[in-house]
Amino acid sequence: MSIEVWSKADLHIHSNHSDGTGSIPQILEYVATKTDLKVIAITDHNTMEGALFAKELEDLYGIEVVVGEEVSSREGHVLGLFLTEEIEPGLSALETIRRITEQGGVAIIPHPFSAQGVYGPFGRGAFLATLSDMAFHALEVYNSVPYLGWANRVAAKMFSGGQGIAAVGGSDAHMVHSVGRGYTVFRGTTAEDLRRSIDELETHAEADRGGLALALRYVRAVPQIRRLRAANWERCRVSA
Ligand SMILES: [Zn+2]
Ligand SMILES: [Zn+2]
Repeated sequence: MSIEVWSKADLHIHSNHSDGTGSIPQILEYVATKTDLKVIAITDHNTMEGALFAKELEDLYGIEVVVGEEVSSREGHVLGLFLTEEIEPGLSALETIRRITEQGGVAIIPHPFSAQGVYGPFGRGAFLATLSDMAFHALEVYNSVPYLGWANRVAAKMFSGGQGIAAVGGSDAHMVHSVGRGYTVFRGTTAEDLRRSIDELETHAEADRGGLALALRYVRAVPQIRRLRAANWERCRVSA
């Protein structure tokens, strides 16, 4: 019998373990009380520390946590989900994806056509030319960060059936209130269902826009997010 329940997962969330402003307990509390997300992935820049902490607390909040990392590859950001080993920044995108899949993880190209995306704003040709060499599982076709509207539209346009990759969405939240603004719809209810749903290419991305109030809140938080980003980068460089 096939499962016909569909659920929501936010696959792209930052905490204060990298450049997010929210702590792990604040994020979990928000997800549990203010959203209908069944699964979330904590994907801090170049560290799994926050994700592992969230994983320890998942039962307390009744949410399933996927341990992830947003790895800064030489070409741009790569998301790894279901990770057991942290991946260092500064490798090629190809090698980063290889290390994710080698440990049984799911590799996603987030905001592929943004400035920090693997393909960049002029990367449509490169995307099509390298698709068969880049063994990633999913393309983030919706990212809820304000001002990525154009990059989202390009990603959605470049995604088509028959490419062997799944479409996913994430909030890329750097503040607690942005969690769940972009999400992935998958068949089933658990993290393992999510993984299978990605494997079977049946996921899709949806947006839950926060409107002007959320956009203004983000603008006010940008200086703090930048400072945290600088501190995170400094720390990763020291440990690398
Ligand atoms: Zn990113
Ligand atoms: Zn991100």
